[in-house]
Amino acid sequence: MIPPIARRFVAGETPATALEHVRECNDRDIRVILNLLGEHYDDPTEADDDARAYATLLSDLADTGLNACISVKPSQIGLDVSEARFRDNFRAIVDVADENDQFVWLDMEDHTTTDATLDAYEEFVTARGGGMGVCLQANLKRTRDDIEQFADVPGKIRLVKGAYNEPPAIAYKSKERVNEVYEEYLEYMFEQYDGGIAVGSHDPVMIDRARELHDVHGTAFEIQMLMGVREDAQEELAREYPVYQYAPYGGKWLSYFYRRIMERKENVRFAVRAVLGR
Ligand code: FAD
Repeated sequence: MIPPIARRFVAGETPATALEHVRECNDRDIRVILNLLGEHYDDPTEADDDARAYATLLSDLADTGLNACISVKPSQIGLDVSEARFRDNFRAIVDVADENDQFVWLDMEDHTTTDATLDAYEEFVTARGGGMGVCLQANLKRTRDDIEQFADVPGKIRLVKGAYNEPPAIAYKSKERVNEVYEEYLEYMFEQYDGGIAVGSHDPVMIDRARELHDVHGTAFEIQMLMGVREDAQEELAREYPVYQYAPYGGKWLSYFYRRIMERKENVRFAVRAVLGR
């Protein structure tokens, strides 16, 4: 059973609790991106199981009329087994999404997966004519080229700062430099894209910059934040802009919860208070 303190960051262990969470968010005008927790499977059976779980989730979602989509990690559906396994499983998910006209995101993992992820994304989103998005990481030096390349490809780009500890030869290592390039990429996207910009950040500076750029260029954008992080801001922003909350769920919640707690001192204090009952 998932303990109450983890429920701040994780939408329960089952599809039913995840859909209940979507309902609560939708009631506050917040849309949801569901992610079944799991990554880096060497065992093809695990990868196939999670791909099936996503397909079932999409069918269940279609019956509810709730405003939610999914975001999938490539290594969760077979990329560590083979590129072919990943693509077969991704195709099975996208087929169900096609039937129900649903949106599918691909998360971006460490740099060894970037080419395989972007190649598959471009092929699928082009064939589908949209209805999909992919995450690009500002900390990777290659991202400027990727952002330019995807300007004319249908679909959405979620711009994030980047969560993986990458080697200095291929990535910016200082927070200041990552913030600088994040802003530069936002500027490029608001100028050159026809829409489909997702600001995947909790940073008030980046969100304010996106709002300014939207006022200047009129380009459509959305804001994406994680469940349990700046939830008041999510609600406030949702009065003016499309806001999506990325909500993970599933049995493998422990390591995700640990990452969320350790990334900020306030969260460590929150966890300690919860455990001590204060
Ligand atoms: P930071 O640079 O960490 O912080 C900047 C400021 O934001 C802080 O000073 C504070 O004011 C505010 N802030 C940040 N965190 C908090 C908090 N917990 N509570 C209160 N205020 C806070 N990374 C990937 O590599 N691949 C992915 O596919 C991916 N998908 C993501 C999807 C979503 C929806 C989001 C929100 C992030 C995703 N990330 C992904 C993670 C991302 O790369 C960053 O590691 C993460 O978002 C932290 O950067 P930041 O821009 O939010 O703010």
